[in-house]
Order: sequence, then C-alpha cells, then structure tokens
Amino acid sequence: MTQRVLDAEELSAAILAIEDELVFDTIETRDLADQYEQRAVELGDQLLVQRARLCQIAVLMRAGDLAGAASRIWAVHRWAEENQSRKLLARTHLVWANVHRLLGDYALNLEHSVLAVELMGSDATPFMRIWHLARLAGALGLVDSRAAARERYERAEAIAHELGHAVLELWVMNNYAWSECLMGEPVRAERIIERLRPFAAEHGFELHPTILDTIGSIEIENGRYAEAEQTLLECVRRHGDGRLEDADSMAQYLLTLSRAQRGTGALDRAQRTLDECRRNCVERELGHVMVRVHQDQAELHAARGDFEAAFAEHKLFFAAHVALGSAEREAQARTRQAMYETAEAREEAEVFREQARRDPLTGLRNRRYVDEELPGLIQRDPLLTLAIVDLDHFKQINDLLSHDVGDQVLIEVARLLETLLADVRTDGFVARMGGEEFLLVLPGTEVTVAARVLDEIRSAVGAHAWRPITGSLPVTVSIGVATGAETAAPTQPVLLSIADRNLYAAKHAGRDRVVFGMPRDGLNRAYRSAVTAA
Ligand code: GH3
Ligand code: MG
Ligand code: MG
Repeated sequence: MTQRVLDAEELSAAILAIEDELVFDTIETRDLADQYEQRAVELGDQLLVQRARLCQIAVLMRAGDLAGAASRIWAVHRWAEENQSRKLLARTHLVWANVHRLLGDYALNLEHSVLAVELMGSDATPFMRIWHLARLAGALGLVDSRAAARERYERAEAIAHELGHAVLELWVMNNYAWSECLMGEPVRAERIIERLRPFAAEHGFELHPTILDTIGSIEIENGRYAEAEQTLLECVRRHGDGRLEDADSMAQYLLTLSRAQRGTGALDRAQRTLDECRRNCVERELGHVMVRVHQDQAELHAARGDFEAAFAEHKLFFAAHVALGSAEREAQARTRQAMYETAEAREEAEVFREQARRDPLTGLRNRRYVDEELPGLIQRDPLLTLAIVDLDHFKQINDLLSHDVGDQVLIEVARLLETLLADVRTDGFVARMGGEEFLLVLPGTEVTVAARVLDEIRSAVGAHAWRPITGSLPVTVSIGVATGAETAAPTQPVLLSIADRNLYAAKHAGRDRVVFGMPRDGLNRAYRSAVTAA
C-alpha cells in the first residue's frame, strides 16, 4: 500500500472518519482499523490505539462475531475509565448496547444506551449527539417505553435537521419507523415512511436495502402484501454483494420477501424465496434467522392445508428455538461477566435492570421480569397457579372514550389487582404482560381455592366504582387459569398456554368469568373447564 505516514493529528482524523460512519464496508474498514492501530502504537499514543481497537470491535460485531466483540470491548472500556476519556467511554457504551441488543438482552441494551448518552460531553461529535440519542430511543422502544422512545427519536431527528446532517436524519427516520412497527404500531410507522420517502427523494438518496426492508415490513403489517413484495424485490436487488451490510442482512430480507409473497397468496414464489433464505442461513451459519425460517416454513405448509408437514416443521422450529435460547443465554452470561468486572457499572446495571423489569405505565412488573423469574418459581413450587387476566372489550373504552381514559383504566386495574391479591396472598405477584393483559401468580394453591380467590378478584374489579373514569361503560375482566398441580411437567410455556386457552374459552363463553381446568388429552380438544362466573 502506498500510503503516507500519518502524524497523530491526521491519524485522529482518519479514525474519526470510521467512528462517525454509519454504513461502512466491513472488510475495508477492518483493514483500515488494523493499520491505524499499528500506526498509533508506533506513535506511542494510547488513546489512538484504543480508538482504533474500538473500531475493530464494531466491525467484528457487524460481521456477527458477538463473542469476539464482547471479549475485547471491555479492555477498551477499562482503559477509557482509568484514563477518564468520557468520549471514548460514551462510544464504548454504544457498542456494548449493540452487542446486548443483538444478544436479545434489552435491559442491558437500555442501560448502555443511557450511559452512551449521559457520558457525552461538550466535545461530542454531531454524529454522537444524533446517533447516540437515536439508539437510546430504539432501546426504549424495545422495552416498550413508547412515549419515551418517541420523544428521543423526535429530538434526534430535530438535531440532525438543525445540524443539516441529512444522512443521519434519514436513518433516524428509518429506525423510528422500524421501532413503531416493532411496538405494534404499523399505522404510525407508515406515517413516518410517508415523510421518509419525499425526504430521501429531495436529497437524492437512493434507499438503502435496510430501509427498503423496513418499508416492506411495514407494508406487510398494514396488509399491503403486493406492494411489500415489490419493495422487497427492489431491496434484494439493491443488496448486491452486501459489502456494506451485516452478515445476516440478505437472509433477513429474503425472509421478509417470502412473508410478503405468502401474504399475496403466491405460495410457490414464497417457497422458492424461503428455500433461498435457508441456503443463505446454512452457508453463513445464521442460527437466529434459521429459527424463523422453520417458523415460516410451518406457516407456509399450513397455508397450503398440509397440517401434518406444518406440525413436523413446527417441532423443528421449537427445537431450534430452544437450542438458540440456550446459546443466547450462554453468550449473555459471558458478556455479563465481562461487564460486571467494573464495579461502578455493576451498581448502575442494577438500577437500570430494575427499571427495565417494570412496566412504565402501571409500575407493575413486566413481561421481562416474568420471563426471568417465573421458570425458577415454577421449579421451586410445582403447585403454582397462573392466571391471565384480560380486560373485556377494552378496545371500546379506547374507541368510545379515549386512549387516555384507556390508560387510566389500565392503571386502576393494575392497582386493584395488586391490592386484591395482597388481601388474600402476600406471596404472589401481578405483572403486566402487555396491552390489556395481566398475569397473576399465586404460589402453591389448591386449584378450587385458587379459582374461588380469582373469582372474587374478578367480581371485585367489575363492582369497582368505575363511573368517575368510564361513565356508564362497565369494566370487567375474563380470567384463564392454569395450575401446576394439574400438569405432569409444569413449565412456563405449558402453564401459560393452558391459561391462555382457558382465557379464550372464558371470552368465548361470554366474558366476565373465570375458567380453569385442563385440556383432556392432546391438542385442540374440548376442555373440562369449570365456569364460576356469576
Ligand atoms: P376482548 O374482550 O376480546 O379481549 O376484546 P378487547 O377489545 O379487550 O381486545 P382487543 O385485543 O381487540 O383490543 C385490545 C386493545 O387494547 C387494543 C389496543 O389498542 C389496546 N391497548 C393496548 N395497549 C394499550 C395501552 O397501553 N393503552 C391503551 N389505552 N390501550 C391499549
Ligand atoms: Mg381484551
Ligand atoms: Mg388481550
């Protein structure tokens, strides 16, 4: 290579160009970052060495080597802490956040995203000011803190606009739309895309495949499959050799394309695309995408009416899902270990972990908490009772009154459930599983006793003085129950699925009631369920 030898100032600028780059060629960037590290060592400038290393780590992460990235970040992190380099520390936290997000640990993703913003000083680059905020927004979205996520996205967009950083503005919009889609708000997502398209056109930007994938996914969620297919075909065409993308990008795009095609009813096309996606996963060892290939394959078989093949495929999906889960947990454990080696981070982690395990609207425990705690509780107490509590016709309250009133009802129901449960059991807990669905956990209770207690809770909710909040609209709940006592091998998925079916039966039977009991044998059979509604 015929490169000029860089002095420290030039080297710093060259590293900055990588640090503040969003879309980069991984192979080229890795080579550059290696050269820069070498030069920094020659210059004896430790800060530059660490910055170059962090660039290498970001490339490793993009290429899919999370364990490799995680094992190296922390040395840079510690150097930054010991030398009080806030700027480097802020960047380190952003990489940490990404690693945790890719590992599926959203609490730690949030924690590091917060630090990546908080540790920025007045010397932060425009890239950092915009992008760190946008990543924090994304992390908030992943733990379903909607209002907080939106507020950050909008601020990030405004800053990008103010600073005239159009490329970043476009990517913030892309991520914002994607977050809305993940939060189950495809209509809001669509509105962002309606701003994004003209913005890109106005600035002469060609839409990056990732952005097309976002758009296509939103079209699918809004039921516009034919448009989605066109968008995704364009996305796959643009992908080219994928040098500017993550290792799993193409597989993700093919999966979305196949879903669009299945939606249009073109099952043969969907199958061909899914086959291509599967080949891509095998070639690149993309276990996490392969899990979804099995899942989609099962749905494709089912769409053709071949339920036997669908069921066989579903079993493959389940096995792959479980295997991936344990691989993820191991990887999480390893990265966490590295993370906890810094004492300060450990204290802060506790605060954020606690926050991430609570639902921001009602203050109850959330699904994350349940997923972390319940398996252990069930193991220790196989007689445990689970009850899924779902508000009846809740959509009406939102539609006829307002979303705000809906929120107030959720807050009040949460409070009621907690006090009512505490009246009978001090060792249970209530969680909000999402939307208008709550989970009650009662330790070791005999099934008929549990059903009676739950029925008292049901009737107390209905009898509560709702008039000040909802006027003449009643508020009632349906409850589906499952107890470990009735199950040979109680596990969280088994108990939740029994409770869920009983909830469905309660809705079907007319709502405002409790249903418990077991499916007699096998799948999809009649229940011997007892209705104890008034
Ligand atoms: P069912 O009796 O069959 O359960 O009918 P439902 O209307 O309660 O159920 P459905 O699942 O159709 O609607 C649930 C609604 O809950 C739709 C969604 O907009 C609303 N919802 C979900 N999360 C929130 C929230 O945080 N606040 C408010 N206000 N509404 C929410
Ligand atoms: Mg409901
Ligand atoms: Mg519901």
